[in-house]
Amino acid sequence: MSVAVIIPAAGSGSRFGGDIPKQFRLLGGKPILQHVVERFLAHERVGRIVVAVAEMLVDEARQTERVRYVAGGATRQQSVSNALAVVGDEDLVAVHDAVRPFFTYGTFGALLDAAAEHGAAFPGVPVTDTIHLVRDERIVQTPERQLLFAAQTPQCFRTAVLRDVLTRAAGDDATDEAGLAARFGYDVRLVPGDAVNFKITRPDDLAMAERMLEQWS
Ligand code: C5P
Repeated sequence: MSVAVIIPAAGSGSRFGGDIPKQFRLLGGKPILQHVVERFLAHERVGRIVVAVAEMLVDEARQTERVRYVAGGATRQQSVSNALAVVGDEDLVAVHDAVRPFFTYGTFGALLDAAAEHGAAFPGVPVTDTIHLVRDERIVQTPERQLLFAAQTPQCFRTAVLRDVLTRAAGDDATDEAGLAARFGYDVRLVPGDAVNFKITRPDDLAMAERMLEQWS
């Protein structure tokens, strides 16, 4: 089955601070986004990669047969939709955060297989902290911890499933497509994620990523 990858990379990275969005910060001397693109390019099952970037960067980007750059939108969900519009007839599509350079091929393969079989799959890791639902500085609910999983990416879908979900959710502002698919009744399977596949969100994360890169190479 053919596979396309969508990388939403059009965010401004406000939580990270600084002038450069975090996906363009250097890791081992190379932009984080480039690590991610190269890692997918080297995977035997991946055909085309579509990267959503800020509109002003599209003209500067080097478009190739396998890597296309499109303008993102105001929200992550809109950026994913814009990228999906140029995905072709690939059977499966993976959506991956631009700032998770340490996804593993083993988990990615398992996710593609689960998506092919069930329609949708996401990598999840059990949360180790107790999570409270808090409103106005008061606990309103404490979900059972055994039921809680932190969602990572790549989240994988049959392409027809993701198209349907994003069409139906148009105008929403979801931070993760797996949850949207579940909301619309699709069978979204959990595949065990990896602790190393963390999202570079704050400056401390970048320092940790540098240390990890040294160990990986
Ligand atoms: O802000 P957050 O870390 O949840 O962003 C996740 C991913 O979505 C990042 O790779 C970011 O660049 C991307 N994004 C996007 N378009 C937006 C907002 C975020 O492509 N409008």
